[in-house]
Amino acid sequence: MHAIKERKLETFRELGTEPGEWKVAKILQCEFDEYGKIVNPIFKTTGYQFITPFFDSIMDSTKFNEFLSQHKDNRLSGGPFTDNCQVCGHEIKNCWIIIHEERKLAMVIGCVCAQNYPELGIEEAIEIMWTQKYLNIFKDWVFTTKHHIWHTNQFQRHDSQGNPRFWCNGRRYIKKDAHSFQSELGRLDFSSIGKKEMLSLIRRAYNRDLPIPQELKKFLRHKTSLDQYFH
Ligand SMILES: [Zn+2]
Repeated sequence: MHAIKERKLETFRELGTEPGEWKVAKILQCEFDEYGKIVNPIFKTTGYQFITPFFDSIMDSTKFNEFLSQHKDNRLSGGPFTDNCQVCGHEIKNCWIIIHEERKLAMVIGCVCAQNYPELGIEEAIEIMWTQKYLNIFKDWVFTTKHHIWHTNQFQRHDSQGNPRFWCNGRRYIKKDAHSFQSELGRLDFSSIGKKEMLSLIRRAYNRDLPIPQELKKFLRHKTSLDQYFH
């Protein structure tokens, strides 16, 4: 039962390769779900030959029967699946494509399997695509926040203690805190900023009741997925 699922490393080696020689193909286009995970990626695979080491391996009748039995179990546990991971053989819904640059090979891999091998670069690929997609929205938000936030009706000066303070949606802010957040936004280097830092700033703004972009708000809803961004 476990022989197929444990193929993983063996698959890379049987091809005469090491996992480190493979990397995620360039993503041309994708969407993101509310957890920040890539959905429906389109990969650039021109010039690469697709191989199916897992399908090739099940030409052996013993393995084939084992494979059919796993398929049956998987379907019962909540398919439908769209493809098979060519590294471990498991049925998958979320297909990624990895390539071997030197040998011009490409194969389908499941995202769970891909995450077992950080050298494939799946996290970096997600980071790049996410940053590309949301950077302009984030830049607009930073500009609005740092230049105009003080002029919105949400802020009012409050001088009862003789110290300038700000109120926002019923919460009091010490001017220094608001100013330091504002100047932090002013010092951002957009050329090197990534998903983690962007979401961290959005989260801090959210905690200060500052308006945040609707498109990015969805990423703040899920505490469990956010935990990984802020640790
Ligand atoms: Zn797999």
